[in-house]
Amino acid sequence: MRDPPEDNPHQRRQQALGRLGEDLLDVLVLGGGIVGSGVARDAAMRGLRVGLVEQSDFASGTSSRSSHLLHGGLRYLAQGYLRLVHEASMEKRVIHRIAPHLADPLAFVFPTRPGWAWAKWKLSVGVRLYDLLCGRRNLGASSTLGRREVYDLLPGLTRNDITGAVRYYDGLTNDARLVIDTIRSAASHGAIVANYCGFLDAELQGGLWRCRARDDVAGNEIEIRARQVVNATGPWSDRIPHSHTRLRLTKGVHLVIDRRRLPIPDAVVLTEGSRILFAIPWGERVILGTTDTDYDGPMESPSCDDDDIDYILDVLAVAFPEAGISRADVIGFWAGLRPLVADRHGNPSDISRRHEITMGEPGWWDVTGGKLTTYRLMAEQTVDQVVRALGRQSPPCRTAEEPLLPAAETEGLSAVIPPPVTERAVKHYCHNEWARHLHDVMIRRTYWHHYRADRQEIAPSVAGWMAEALGWDPATTAAELATYIAAVREETLRFAMTHPTKLQTDH
Ligand SMILES: Cc1cc2nc3c(=O)[nH]c(=O)nc-3n(C[C@H](O)[C@H](O)[C@H](O)COP(=O)(O)OP(=O)(O)OC[C@H]3O[C@@H](n4cnc5c(N)ncnc54)[C@H](O)[C@@H]3O)c2cc1C
Repeated sequence: MRDPPEDNPHQRRQQALGRLGEDLLDVLVLGGGIVGSGVARDAAMRGLRVGLVEQSDFASGTSSRSSHLLHGGLRYLAQGYLRLVHEASMEKRVIHRIAPHLADPLAFVFPTRPGWAWAKWKLSVGVRLYDLLCGRRNLGASSTLGRREVYDLLPGLTRNDITGAVRYYDGLTNDARLVIDTIRSAASHGAIVANYCGFLDAELQGGLWRCRARDDVAGNEIEIRARQVVNATGPWSDRIPHSHTRLRLTKGVHLVIDRRRLPIPDAVVLTEGSRILFAIPWGERVILGTTDTDYDGPMESPSCDDDDIDYILDVLAVAFPEAGISRADVIGFWAGLRPLVADRHGNPSDISRRHEITMGEPGWWDVTGGKLTTYRLMAEQTVDQVVRALGRQSPPCRTAEEPLLPAAETEGLSAVIPPPVTERAVKHYCHNEWARHLHDVMIRRTYWHHYRADRQEIAPSVAGWMAEALGWDPATTAAELATYIAAVREETLRFAMTHPTKLQTDH
């Protein structure tokens, strides 16, 4: 390694790890997904001394593998989970208020057919109720469309049986950016945060949790003392020592295609039996998904199998038969694990997305379930309990009012649609957002990996800028690039995707 520049990210990391080892924390948060970062932000804003450790990169778990929706969940309404839908709908609006750069209103067209589970009259009533459950002010007003209007809007939609549609609103977000910006906010309020630092074990001694964590960069262990511990490790949470939680994991896969192949102005609801999938416009791309199947495989990088791809493409082919979308059109994919509160029975899609906050041992909290959309509420409820357990008087929760970050700090760097590739952005991610590896920038900070068909071509420039920011020597730079390119090649070969140079983006 070359000597990195002064006041560099390495020094700041060492300082953070040093403070984690020295300070007595009020609360240590395990897991840097959306729930852990939300808890850290809220606790820091209420004046608690907070630490957060993440075993890999921030947002590398489920929180960078969602459908990118801020939603109450129309289908949960059909399942009768009114309270859940109300909570999530209100939170959708909160995120739109505190982080408008990460919450674009998005219309969904839900086509209807005769004699079918989702009858048009039921859906018309449903979407009106959906608007009401947002406190009467959804991100846009729902409406009903006639058959003609549907085909004007979606010319490629199957001619088979469509009677009309309902159109309703949810929000499109950028899940990984929501995590990173939340962590940045937490840090700006005093939270000490470290990625690539995994929790190993803990012991309760004299009312204090003595926790061991491993600093993967330095390759050593540190001890962190905390009065309270919040286990927010999502799909990992029932594998953490002292956890009292039980999960049922289900896998969801998304595919990304070029929007020119499916030029939809709004998101489209696709149905398969009683299941719902989405085609979601995402800038120059369309996100297709998702699947929902029980999962017991390895936790790191769950795979996207042939069956998953075929299932999604088959459902799409029924709705848009003339588009002829095939595997060759897939330019990206991701697979994530839902950390559902255990319910061994029934269809994965029918399990409630409720959340649970439990104290299994004195000062040890497990926070599980929920959704990206409800993370702030989960964090507020968790921190309320932590504050009570600490016996503190703390100011009330302000996370629903205070902007996530000042607008000037997000411009050109954090948005729903991936930003253009620039040196300034890449260096910012290294200096201010804890990016350590090429894939941290290509995936979590920017989504260029899933969005840009020329990801392989831009990677050397990105690696070069990271090398300058982080003081990588030529061998480190080459190794980072080789690891990344090998991963891209493996994906390309495995799924017979379009050759990356075939499609060009306009940035
Ligand atoms: C396919 C799919 C689609 C979804 N779509 C949506 C959607 O559109 N809208 C919505 O609202 N919700 C959606 N969800 C749900 C939402 O994504 C999840 O509820 C949410 O991201 C879970 O966040 P989390 O912080 O609990 O878990 P994670 O994001 O997985 O975070 C847990 C973190 O803990 C870390 N960790 C694990 N072990 C340790 C350890 N020992 N030490 C330190 N760190 C550790 C992991 O590395 C990970 O980063 C979707 C989920 C899936 C799977």
